[in-house]
Amino acid sequence: MMLACARCFHRQEAGETCGACGAEAIFDLRSQAARDLFDGNEARARRARDGRIRMISAITAVAAMVGLFAIFGALNLVPRRGAIVLVLAPAVGVELLLEKLLGRGKASILEGLPPAELP
Ligand SMILES: [Zn+2]
Repeated sequence: MMLACARCFHRQEAGETCGACGAEAIFDLRSQAARDLFDGNEARARRARDGRIRMISAITAVAAMVGLFAIFGALNLVPRRGAIVLVLAPAVGVELLLEKLLGRGKASILEGLPPAELP
């Protein structure tokens, strides 16, 4: 048996309810229709997750930028020109790096499955 929960994507061998979240949304992954459903659900979950990651990364980058500006300011190292580039460039780097690090999602539960046996 190849069953999976449509709500939290937990996979299990048997049972009517999900062993992880308790939802009664267990589907048989041998069926192509169930796989199509999971495909859509996973895509939605991935988009929501990507949005959260982008928000966290952006907030962290802004915090880093403010911190850098405060440190350089306290040390009287803020140049009259180009100050914004001095803090903006590392902040953009931080944002991109975080998005990359946090964005490493887990693989689809449909990955590595044999071909569907049921329509
Ligand atoms: Zn579940």
